[in-house]
Amino acid sequence: MKVKDIINKANDDLIIGLSYLMDKSKSYLYLNSHEELTSDIEEKILSIEEDLNNGIPLQYALGYWEFLNISLIVDKRALIPRFETEIIVDYIIKSDFKKDKILDIGAGSGAISLSLSKNLPQSQVLGVDISDEALSLCNENKNNLNLTNVNFIKSDLFDNISDKFDIIVSNPPYINEKDYLALDKKLYHEPKLALYGGKDGLYFYKKIIDQANDYLNDQGHLIFEIGYDQKDPINELLVKSDFKNIINLKDFNGFDRFIIAQKG
Ligand code: GLN
Repeated sequence: MKVKDIINKANDDLIIGLSYLMDKSKSYLYLNSHEELTSDIEEKILSIEEDLNNGIPLQYALGYWEFLNISLIVDKRALIPRFETEIIVDYIIKSDFKKDKILDIGAGSGAISLSLSKNLPQSQVLGVDISDEALSLCNENKNNLNLTNVNFIKSDLFDNISDKFDIIVSNPPYINEKDYLALDKKLYHEPKLALYGGKDGLYFYKKIIDQANDYLNDQGHLIFEIGYDQKDPINELLVKSDFKNIINLKDFNGFDRFIIAQKG
């Protein structure tokens, strides 16, 4: 089987899958379409094709995915790390915020915690999650990446936290009931626990904002990824809890996607 036999199937996910397996860019594949696949890669790409035909997301079919400058194991234990989330990680890395101690609530695969610890070697990062399965994935990823300035513990939001942090970051489950029922079928392969944010999608923001002041150092920052229609209600909650210097950021599609606020 040749590269062009995959290209000819005209399935973008399959071509991306092949570029991951061969560790080559998509343009390399188009320019070298007569290249023969090794039997190992042929076997893997055919199995990925079968998974895709069964509606399994490419990232789970591959079993790993790139996030910023790290490669993560991804499987159904946690949400697939989204490209958009790299925006907020990059923002934190480049910001002049104090960031000696960072807390990531709802660590999932560990994407945010691990990419921050990798790129901020002076920072100490703590990732928490309520899911034992997610935590086992976080720790596998941590070990693969040989990072020592990050730890993961089980905690329902702040329940097992006693420390204070310079930054609290979270990409909590934020999809509301109506949108959850209308999701693309592919997303039902991901844990509902990682996507569903209660009837109005705001359940976790309310709880985090309510308690965050107790866990932030003075002038510390609370940073969220949010749903496309949640900017106004979350800004309001932040103002009510005395947060200041609120910044709203959009994603690459122009949707409101992030909020940054400072302890008042
Ligand atoms: N960004 C994800 C989606 O659109 C949702 C992630 C989340 O709920 N935090 O499907």
